[in-house]
Amino acid sequence: MTINPLKNALAQLERAAKVGNVNAETLLRMRHAEREVHVAIPVKMDTGKLRIFEGYRVQHSSVRGPYKGGIRFHPDTNIDEVRALALWMTLKCAVADIPMGGGKGGITVDPKTLSKGELERLSRGWVRGLVPVLGPKIDVPAPDVNTTPEIIGWMADEYAKLTGDESGAGFTGKPVDKGGSEGRGVATGMGGFYTFDALRKDVSIPASANVAIQGMGNVGGNAAKVFQDHGHRVIAMSDSRSGIYCKDGLDVSAVLSYKERNGSLKDFPGVEQISNEQLLELPVDVLIPAALENQITASNAAKIKARVILELANGPTTTEADDILFSRGIAIVPDILANSGGVIVSTFEWEQNLKGEHWSEKDVLEKLQTTLETQSRIIADRAAALKTDLRRAAFVVALERITQALGSSASVRAE
Ligand code: NAD
Repeated sequence: MTINPLKNALAQLERAAKVGNVNAETLLRMRHAEREVHVAIPVKMDTGKLRIFEGYRVQHSSVRGPYKGGIRFHPDTNIDEVRALALWMTLKCAVADIPMGGGKGGITVDPKTLSKGELERLSRGWVRGLVPVLGPKIDVPAPDVNTTPEIIGWMADEYAKLTGDESGAGFTGKPVDKGGSEGRGVATGMGGFYTFDALRKDVSIPASANVAIQGMGNVGGNAAKVFQDHGHRVIAMSDSRSGIYCKDGLDVSAVLSYKERNGSLKDFPGVEQISNEQLLELPVDVLIPAALENQITASNAAKIKARVILELANGPTTTEADDILFSRGIAIVPDILANSGGVIVSTFEWEQNLKGEHWSEKDVLEKLQTTLETQSRIIADRAAALKTDLRRAAFVVALERITQALGSSASVRAE
């Protein structure tokens, strides 16, 4: 059965509202996106034939700043998935306390079936379709699943050609030599580590932990490197096709370069091949879902043996699974906190572009670490005060900040 991520996101919202004193008008606003745009993107294929692709941008909330969120290219992407991701972005930007609202975009496509030229025409086509609702002060897209810095670079270039805005501030996650920020590539994985490290003692995880990571793209791959670099043992990794396990720890760099050379993990030497299901159920200290939504559900939550789940993917756990894991004492560091490193550094990129500055990687990562340590502490303390889990606490803190931004205009605007 397919699980609708929007239903999950809305259920999380309602559950959080029950434990916190959440403003009813804020809650009502959060249930609806401010604007949704669907575009039909015409692309001339290499064969000369024209194909139309379906694209989206959901602009969920501009209460705290310009809409902000990634663009996903995936065959299963649909409007409800994008709506859920956009709602999570609004909450995530509020949790990080950055001056951004929330949005998300996507195209229903399997990019692996396109040539590079087709991919570029499709990426530029998405911008042409949406240009009236984009801009540095309106909506600032970024990378997500299957959208690389190169793709974002094409998009930023298309936007500059169409509008004459050369600031680069309309898109983040650009290649560094095209106005991107130092540290953006590693930001989500790195931010996940900073969050984990800030909360590690709260969840009683040792300084050298066993870690399993599902997904090894931008987020999972970088997280694996960072955890290993900080003395943890990555004992399992997977991609969409298969996984590998070694109880003594994998050599992360060797795994990533093998995957790059061969396109998969098949036949990686000296390890046990495992399925994605097996990876999720390994007895580890830390389980990191870093792929897609709905990986931990009512059907496997009882079999999870991790001590803590660090959600670097968006929406990997359903609310039914949340309850099962909570009753079993398994802590979840929720996506809207754990993976906020990407949007935090994206916001640094936007700021650098607007001011015409270029910050060093050291400065970027120090600012990221300070932000996440501060916000992780706030959320953990709130969870303790409300006697609830970190997800509900993060939602409550986010909703309070959104209410505050609405200020006294809330009642007027809600009418
Ligand atoms: P990516 O395209 O770079 O990588 C995705 C990875 O997931 C690939 O390794 C792919 O093989 C794997 N995968 C896909 N389906 C899978 C499955 N069913 N089982 C196991 N692995 C599977 O994407 P990414 O940017 O790394 O994003 C991963 C997750 O992190 C997504 O949920 C995304 O929304 C979230 N996220 C990304 C960012 C960012 O900055 N890129 C920021 C915050 C959150």
